[in-house]
Amino acid sequence: PPAAAPASIDFASMDGVDLDHFWMPFTNNRFFKQNPRLFVAASDMHYTTADGRQVLDATAGLWCVNAGHGRAAITDAVTRAAQTLDFAPTFQLGHPLAFRLASDVARIMPAGMDRVFFTNSGSESADTALKMALAYHHARGDHTRFRLIGRQRGYHGTNFGGLSVGGIGGNRRRFVSQVWGVDHLSHTHGQAVRFCRGMQPGNGALAEELEELVALHGPETIAAVIVEPVAGSTGVLVPPQGYLQALRDITRKHGILLIFDEVITGFGRLGKATAAEYFGVTPDIITTAKGLTNGTVPMGAVIASREVHDTVVNGSPEGIEFYHGYTYSGHPVAAAAGLATLGLYREEGLFENAAALAAHWEAAAHALADCPHVIDVRNLGLVAGIELAPRDGTVGARAMEAFHRAFDAGLLIRVTGDIIALSPPLMISAAQIDTIFGMLREILNDLA
Ligand code: PLP
Repeated sequence: PPAAAPASIDFASMDGVDLDHFWMPFTNNRFFKQNPRLFVAASDMHYTTADGRQVLDATAGLWCVNAGHGRAAITDAVTRAAQTLDFAPTFQLGHPLAFRLASDVARIMPAGMDRVFFTNSGSESADTALKMALAYHHARGDHTRFRLIGRQRGYHGTNFGGLSVGGIGGNRRRFVSQVWGVDHLSHTHGQAVRFCRGMQPGNGALAEELEELVALHGPETIAAVIVEPVAGSTGVLVPPQGYLQALRDITRKHGILLIFDEVITGFGRLGKATAAEYFGVTPDIITTAKGLTNGTVPMGAVIASREVHDTVVNGSPEGIEFYHGYTYSGHPVAAAAGLATLGLYREEGLFENAAALAAHWEAAAHALADCPHVIDVRNLGLVAGIELAPRDGTVGARAMEAFHRAFDAGLLIRVTGDIIALSPPLMISAAQIDTIFGMLREILNDLA
């Protein structure tokens, strides 16, 4: 008989936990290990800390737990999948769950975008999308199209492709060897337009910079442009009206593929399945991760238009068409999590809930405009960015103080530089929105 699961894994206790060995990602390891903050459980809108306190989650974990924590429909599916088919390769083989999930994802994508390639993270999705774009042009015989264009303050994960098109200096500077032939558009955050509710005013003029790059390099050298429809990680940068459509028009005119990185905006964050649907602009490739499995199991998906897929698959010689993939692409346990997650989004109308609460969220966020140190508030869907004035010229110190105070008061927020970024689970209620911003008001009032 199979051996029972070891009883020795202690999920909730700190007994015997040694902080030395885990080299933590994107963390001030030296500070953290002097001041550890650990979660041991989570349910619906709350985390439980190691010292037994409840923390209201205003960030959906890390922009991923869109259906709320500990949802039985997902955890049961994960358990059953692991017990039924722990692993199966998807190189030259397959299993039904991956095909089912691909169909389910395709069903909520914009029309014509229905070919799904699985990854394990947002970073892998970004690099997959960039390689897909290169493979597309190669299959068409456009062998000179290798340039990739990203944007300042863009974040596309930490692998070399995404890093190269990304626009965060700190992430790039230490790593000299980046993808060659990359340019960046300006970011879309108009410093003059503060406290803007929803989209910034605009006319798409900023997208004209792409025409300048086309004129500089020649359209026959440019493979793809990648942007986050709303930049999340660099502090909730909402695009000006008309900007994404203008990018679409210019890319189409010059035969350049447009990639939307929807790792944050995908799966309901703006009240629709995708930002593409929200803005009414259809790219050629969409990258996703995070909300695909509600964060329960790592998984990402890259959704290509039928045209991109068919060009690569039908335009390649007999044999493997796309020399790319991961051992865990379409992993059965992750696929089960994805199927259950999309089921929850549908059954509970969570995208619709986000859309219905967006106006309440906006009003609550902008009510903080009169708090000390607040120099900007911006929002869209169930996302908000609250920008604080740097303290004594030290970027990030004030927001980090807010983060620590919030945690100690029982509220999880995210900070990037001096910007507080909020993105709660989509199952949130109006009352919980009021609680988040009420707590935040007190925290901001108490800041040094
Ligand atoms: N792309 C965007 C837009 C993201 O926000 C993120 C993560 O926050 C990533 C890519 C990278 O995702 P991951 O951390 O899963 O690799």
